[in-house]
Amino acid sequence: MEHVDCIVIGGGVIGLAVARRMASAGLETVVLEREAMPGSHTSSRNSEVIHAGLYYPPGSRKARLCVRGRQQLYRYCEERGVAHRRCGKLIVATSEDEHATLRGYVATAGRNGVTDLAWLTPREVAAMEPAVHCTAALWSPSTGILSSHELLQALLGDLEASGGSLACRAEVVSAQLGSRHLVIVQQDGARSELESRLLVNAAGLDAQRVARTFAGLDAVTIPPQHLAKGLYFTLQGRAPFGHLIYPVARSDGGLGIHVTVDLGGGVRFGPDVEWISAIDYSVDDSRRAAFAAAIRRYYPDLDAGRLQPGYAGIRARISGPGEPAADFCLQGPDQHGWQGLVNLYGIESPGLTASLAIADDVAEALGVVPAPTRN
Ligand SMILES: Cc1cc2nc3c(=O)[nH]c(=O)nc-3n(C[C@H](O)[C@H](O)[C@H](O)COP(=O)(O)OP(=O)(O)OC[C@H]3O[C@@H](n4cnc5c(N)ncnc54)[C@H](O)[C@@H]3O)c2cc1C
Repeated sequence: MEHVDCIVIGGGVIGLAVARRMASAGLETVVLEREAMPGSHTSSRNSEVIHAGLYYPPGSRKARLCVRGRQQLYRYCEERGVAHRRCGKLIVATSEDEHATLRGYVATAGRNGVTDLAWLTPREVAAMEPAVHCTAALWSPSTGILSSHELLQALLGDLEASGGSLACRAEVVSAQLGSRHLVIVQQDGARSELESRLLVNAAGLDAQRVARTFAGLDAVTIPPQHLAKGLYFTLQGRAPFGHLIYPVARSDGGLGIHVTVDLGGGVRFGPDVEWISAIDYSVDDSRRAAFAAAIRRYYPDLDAGRLQPGYAGIRARISGPGEPAADFCLQGPDQHGWQGLVNLYGIESPGLTASLAIADDVAEALGVVPAPTRN
C-alpha cells in the first residue's frame, strides 16, 4: 500500500488549488480524478468571470473568499501568465423599480469591502455600450474574465513543481476514516489502496456521494444536494458588446441571463436556472424564446436568429428551489470530528474566483502551515 501526506479527491479548480497549497507547504500530495482530464466538469463549464464580490451576504464565506480570492487570482494570473482581462462589468436596471436593487448592491458591496462601484447614467452607458438599453447602471471596474483552462494548467504545473501529482481515470470508490485515512481507488479496472493523514473531498457535484462512502463519517453532517443547470447561448457574428453586462439578479437564484465576453471577443448569454435531478449537460434550442425575451430587456435590437445553443454547466447547490442561496460549506474536524479530513460542499459561483482563498481556508482547517501572506 502506498502512503502519502495528503489525498485530494477531484481534479477541478478547487481540488487543484487545494493540492497546490498543500504541496507548497512541503506535503506529498496526490490528486485523484475520475475523468481522463482535469477540470472536465464545472471548472470548464462556467462563465469564466472573476467576480468582484457584490452580491453575497456580508460576513458569509462567499463574500469573504470571493473578495480575497479575487485579489489573489489577479495576482496569480499576472505572475503565472494566465490569460485574463480586467474588463469591468455593467449592472443595468431596465425600469425604475429595479433601482432599489442597484442601491442594495452598492450597500452590500461596501460591507463586503468592494468600494469601487460607480453609478452611470443611461447617457454614460450609451457612450460605453451603444447597444444597451437601461434606466440606470452600476460600473464594477474590478470584475474581469480569465481562461479557466489556463488557470487549471498553471495550478497543475505548480503542484507538479512542488513534487505533487495528478492521477486521472482514478475514481475514489470509498474510504475508511482513521488516524490515517485509507482510500480505495479504482483505476484502469484495478483496485488499489492509498493511505494519508490528510484527506480533502473536492468532488464538486459528487461531493455528497463521495462523502457517503466514507466509513466512520456521521451521515447527518452531509448536506442535501440540489442540481441547478445553467444553459448558455452564443451570439453568432460581430460582437455588439465590449464589457460584461448583467441585468439585476433574478429571484430564481441565478444572476440573470447576462452577457459574458470571452478573451477572444466572442459573446455568450446565460446561464439560466433549471432544477434537475441528475447530471445532464445536454443543450437544445427549446429555451431560445425565453432567452431572447430576457436579453431584449437590455439589448432590444437582438436578432434571435443569431443565438446558437452553446453549452451547459451545473451548480452544486446545497439549498433547493425557493430557498435562499446557501453559503459555501467547508467541514473540517471541528464540524465532523475527524482529524485530517475536509469535505467541501456547495462550491458553486463564485468558486472559480475564490479558489485560491478556499485552498488557504482548507489548509487552515487542517492546521497546515506555513500560512500564506494575505493582503
Ligand atoms: C453555470 C455556472 C457558471 C459559473 N460561473 C462562474 C463564474 O463566472 N465565476 C466564478 O467564480 N465561478 C463560477 N461558477 C462556479 C465555479 O465554476 C465552481 O465553483 C468551480 O468550478 C467548482 O470547482 P470544483 O473543483 O469544486 O468542481 P469540479 O470542477 O466539478 O471538479 C470536481 C471533480 O471531482 C471529480 N470527481 C467526482 N467524483 C470523483 C470520485 N469519486 N473520484 C475522483 N474524482 C471524482 C470530477 O470528475 C470533477 O473533475 C459557475 C458555475 C456554474 C455551474
